[in-house]
Amino acid sequence: MERESMPMDALFVGGGPACLAGAIHLMNLIEKHNEEAANNTDLDVIEEPMIGLIDKGSEIGSHALSGAVMDPRALSELIPDWKTRDDMPVERYVEEEEMVLLTEKQVFKGPMMPPGLADHGLPIISIGMFQKWLAEIAEEKGVMVFPGFAGVELLWNDDGSQVTGVRTGDKGVGPDGSHKANFEPGMDLESPVTILGEGPRGHLTRELIQKFNLDADSQPMVYEIGVKEVIELPKGSVKKGGVTLTMGYPLDFNTFGGAFVYSMGGDRMCIGLLVGLDAKDPALDAHYLLQKLKNHPYMRKKLAGGKVVKYGAKTVTVGGWASMPKMYAPGAMIVGDSASLLNPMRIKGIHLSMKSGMLAAETAFEAMKSGVATDEALSSFKQKIDDSWIREEMEPAKNFHSSFHNGLIGGMFKVGMQMVFGPGKDIKPFAPDHEHMQRASVYHGSEGLPANDDLKYDNSYLVDKLTSVYMSSTKHDEQQPCHLQIADREICATQCAEEYGNPCERFCPAQVYNMVLNEEVGRKEMQVDFSNCVHCKTCDIRDPYQIIKWVPPEGGDGPEYGFM
Ligand code: SF4
Repeated sequence: MERESMPMDALFVGGGPACLAGAIHLMNLIEKHNEEAANNTDLDVIEEPMIGLIDKGSEIGSHALSGAVMDPRALSELIPDWKTRDDMPVERYVEEEEMVLLTEKQVFKGPMMPPGLADHGLPIISIGMFQKWLAEIAEEKGVMVFPGFAGVELLWNDDGSQVTGVRTGDKGVGPDGSHKANFEPGMDLESPVTILGEGPRGHLTRELIQKFNLDADSQPMVYEIGVKEVIELPKGSVKKGGVTLTMGYPLDFNTFGGAFVYSMGGDRMCIGLLVGLDAKDPALDAHYLLQKLKNHPYMRKKLAGGKVVKYGAKTVTVGGWASMPKMYAPGAMIVGDSASLLNPMRIKGIHLSMKSGMLAAETAFEAMKSGVATDEALSSFKQKIDDSWIREEMEPAKNFHSSFHNGLIGGMFKVGMQMVFGPGKDIKPFAPDHEHMQRASVYHGSEGLPANDDLKYDNSYLVDKLTSVYMSSTKHDEQQPCHLQIADREICATQCAEEYGNPCERFCPAQVYNMVLNEEVGRKEMQVDFSNCVHCKTCDIRDPYQIIKWVPPEGGDGPEYGFM
C-alpha cells in the first residue's frame, strides 16, 4: 500500500499541555537562535522548521479532562504575560477554599487547608479550553497542528534500534479489516525526534517502554480514575471562585481517593471524584460513587437546583516520582502524564507536564542542531529534569502513594511524618493496580457483588450511566474494528464471571462492557459496545487478568468534552 510520508524536524504526539508547551517552547528557541544567527556567521539559520503535533481528538482539547486549578509556574515561564492577556481562558480565580471530611450524613470542616493543597489566588481553568488556546498560539508560531490523527505505531530505522517517527491510523477500515469506499491510508510522519505526550497509559509510550525496558528501575505506573460533571446552576448562584476538597464518603477508609467541587465561569460548577484503581473492591464503580456523592446532603445544598450538562472520565497517574520511567530512548522522549508527571500530594500535574514538554523541547533543539538523536544525545533530558524544579517538587512526594497501602488514616499519618522528617532515602516499592483487586467472594462474601440500585436517577441532577455517556458526546463510527481488544473472551464468560463477577461492567465509566445472555449456549457472554468509550483507559489498567488492550480507534472519534 502506498503511504504518504512527511518529513519533520520534530514531532509531538498528543495535544495536551506537555506537547503544546513543548512545541511552543521549541519554536521560541528556534526564533531566538535565528535572531542570533542573523548577526553571527558561525551559526546557521534554521530555515522553515517543520515542527508537527498530532492529536487523536477531533479538535485540540476535545479529549481533555482535568479538575482543574492550575499552578501557573510553567505557564509563567512559557507565556510570561498570560495573566494580562484577554484571550487566556480562566474560569475564575480561587477566592475561597475548604477541606471537608464527609460521612454518610454529616460533614466535618477542616480548620484550614493542609499544606500543599492551598490554592488561593490560582486560576481555575477548563483544561479543554486551555489546550485550545495553547494550540492557537502554537499555530501562530508555525507549528503544524493536526487534530483527528491518532498515532498507531512507531516508525523505526532499518535495524529497529531508533525511533524515526510515527504512523497515523488508517481511516475507512471496516470491522473485518476490509477497506471501505472512504478508505485513506495513514501517513508516515518521519522525524529524527519524536516526543510522546499521549496522556496516561499511552499506546505508543507502552510500545517504547517495553522495547527498551525503560521502566526497569522504576515502580509501576499507578492510576486513579477521575469522573467529572459540569453542572449548570440557577442564575446568579455562583458568586465566587470556590474550591471544596472532600475526603471520606462515598469512599471507605480502605479506598484511596477524594473529590472536588470547583466554581466555573457563569453559573457553572464542576464536581469530580478520583478513586485509586488499586481498590480492592471488584464492584468499584466511579460513576455510581459520583452520583452517591452528589446525593449527600452537603452536596445537595451546594449544588441546589443544578442540572448536569457534561460528563467525562479519564485516568490520572498517581505514582509520581517513584513511577517515572527512563524518559528517553533513541529518537524519542516521553513527557507529561505518559511519564507519570503529576505530584500526587498536591493532585496537580499540568505545570509539571508543561515543564517536562519544555525541557524535552530544549533537548530536541540540541538534537536538531547537532543532527544526532541517539540515546546518549537525548540523555541530557534526564539531567534537565533533575536540575529543574520538577525534581525539587516531586522527589519529596516519592513515597506518597505507597504510604496509603494500609488505608487512609495510616496513610495520612505517614505522609504527615514525611512532611516533617522527609520521605527517607529509598523509594518504597508497590505493585501494579490490577494486582490489588480481591475476588468477589473475599470482598463481598457469598452474596456476590452488590446491586448498587439504591439511587433514584432523574437524569438531570442524578444521572444514570448511559445518559452520562450521552452527555460526554462521545461517538465512534461503528463500522470499524473494535478498539478494545480482549485477548480471550472465554475468560470473561467463565473464570472472571466466577472469580470477580465481571468487574469491567462496573469499573468502565461508560457502560462499554455488558455480559449478555446468549440463549443458544445458555450463558452470559461479553458484548463490547465500543462506541460508548470515552478513552479513559481504566479497563486496560484495572482488568485483573490483563487481557484488555486499548488501542486508538479511527482518528477524530471519541468524546467531545469542549469545556471540561
Ligand atoms: Fe474507559 Fe475502557 Fe470503558 Fe473505554 S472501555 S470508557 S477506555 S474503561
